[in-house]
Amino acid sequence: MSTRLPGVYSSLGPFREAFARQIPILMYHKVGPRPSRVRLKGMYVEPRLFRRQMRELGAAGFTSALPDSVLTQPQSTPPKIVLTFDDGYRNVLEHALEPMREARLTAIQFLIPDLIGQRNEWDVAQGEAPEPLMNREEIGRWLAAGHDIGAHTCTHPFLTRIPLQQARDEIIASRRKLEDLFQRQVVHFCYPFGDWNEAVRDIVAEAGFQTAVTTASGLNSLESGRFSLLRFTARHQSRSLKAWWRRLSGR
Ligand SMILES: [Zn+2]
Repeated sequence: MSTRLPGVYSSLGPFREAFARQIPILMYHKVGPRPSRVRLKGMYVEPRLFRRQMRELGAAGFTSALPDSVLTQPQSTPPKIVLTFDDGYRNVLEHALEPMREARLTAIQFLIPDLIGQRNEWDVAQGEAPEPLMNREEIGRWLAAGHDIGAHTCTHPFLTRIPLQQARDEIIASRRKLEDLFQRQVVHFCYPFGDWNEAVRDIVAEAGFQTAVTTASGLNSLESGRFSLLRFTARHQSRSLKAWWRRLSGR
């Protein structure tokens, strides 16, 4: 099998065969109209595209799963997919909740407990456009709609660039704070910026998490490390990807 999958997920087409073999994980950040002065445009998915993606997955019979499912089972019938959102943006609540409900799909949001109800300070510090993060009541609505939450540290640092003790505090406290706030178990973790190493990974394991997702692209095999799971970035199709797909499909 020599199929090379695109790193970016836009529609099911190029992924259909691969997703029939192994449960995929998709990665989203922001869903909504993109403000004009945005640095990382790929972090936004237009509501129309998101709706189209959910409809397509729903029509293809996909049902939702959590990150640990990719380790315990190969793909099945009906096929499963793991939808993940990083950071807890309010625009996801506004634009993604309804399309997911219509497609009978659910997702997990990786939250930053010290920034609940605030904004993406770690991005704004780099000159990125500010975006509001869900507050406590909004996260309550997210949970009430049948979705899940995971931890994404307390303040969204690069975990390999801070002292290990500080990384330990960020990881352990993020789980405890979310569990206290929302009175439910939090067992899935997401590395901010996809930044991790073996020492950081070991802390995540010791903290009692069952899985951790990265930003690296690909399908997970059943032997994949449960604390370094791969995800496909979901976004609009880039021009080069369109060209790649045209070439591949002979169109
Ligand atoms: Zn993040």
